[in-house]
Amino acid sequence: MKNLKLAMRESEQRTIIKISNAEIGRGFSVIAGPCSVESEEQMFESARAVKAAGADMLRGGAFKPRTSPYAFQGLGLHGLKLLSEAGKETGLPIVTEVIDPRDVSWVAEFADVLQIGTRNMQNYSLLKEVGQTGRPVLLKRGMYSTLEEWLNCAEYILSEGNPNVILCERGIRTFETYTRNTLDLSAVPAIKELTHLPIIIDPTHSTGRVNLIGPMSLAAVAAGADGLIVEVHYDPARALCDADQALTPTLFKDIMQRLRPLQSFMGDLPENS
Ligand code: PEP
Ligand code: MN
Repeated sequence: MKNLKLAMRESEQRTIIKISNAEIGRGFSVIAGPCSVESEEQMFESARAVKAAGADMLRGGAFKPRTSPYAFQGLGLHGLKLLSEAGKETGLPIVTEVIDPRDVSWVAEFADVLQIGTRNMQNYSLLKEVGQTGRPVLLKRGMYSTLEEWLNCAEYILSEGNPNVILCERGIRTFETYTRNTLDLSAVPAIKELTHLPIIIDPTHSTGRVNLIGPMSLAAVAAGADGLIVEVHYDPARALCDADQALTPTLFKDIMQRLRPLQSFMGDLPENS
């Protein structure tokens, strides 16, 4: 890790990222919303549902990095506008993915947080571009990447003058096929040892299975993560993207009702000595 000048943890001090009325790095922040923005009704209904259940921020993709070029690619500018309006109505800051360096500056005008997806973790020109905006960046771990490679990518953003990097563990590829990926929960305490940057968990893309999202969300709290990002759709059966892994508003609410007390319990535990 010798090349990490800015990402390395040198003291007890940790980075807390302020995003309008939310904060990542203090407490446990929940980012929720649909995989992609699909329509006005879908976006607003999903946003209202996650707000009602106690989410802190709203997610929604307007540019989707799909495995197949024929799959739904997102609504682009129209999607961003819908997401931004849904964010304003609910009072939730918005997180959205950017996949092309040429789009970064105008997407940053809408987004409170710019997401870099797993497939773009090592897209260095994209990292430099988001590093030049002042916007917080949610940097997902590459599905084949080591912690060192991931932190070097965070370093790219930091070294452009943007200190607001949030790491997101979203599962890595292993030989297991039952789950979509394998959630590396040990990355949470390991990252906490290595860097001052906050880390959140994505229980949706790491498991790809609705029934596993609740247990892994609670496990993220217990592991000491700073939050999670989870997909919630007002009607998953009709989702255009990642339909099998989206939570219904009811399931999301159930998870939130179990998660918040665990968060308080964890907060009351004595510190590790
Ligand atoms: C997403 O958040 O919708 C997404 C595409 O995630 P990932 O880059 O982790 O696959
Ligand atoms: Mn998705």
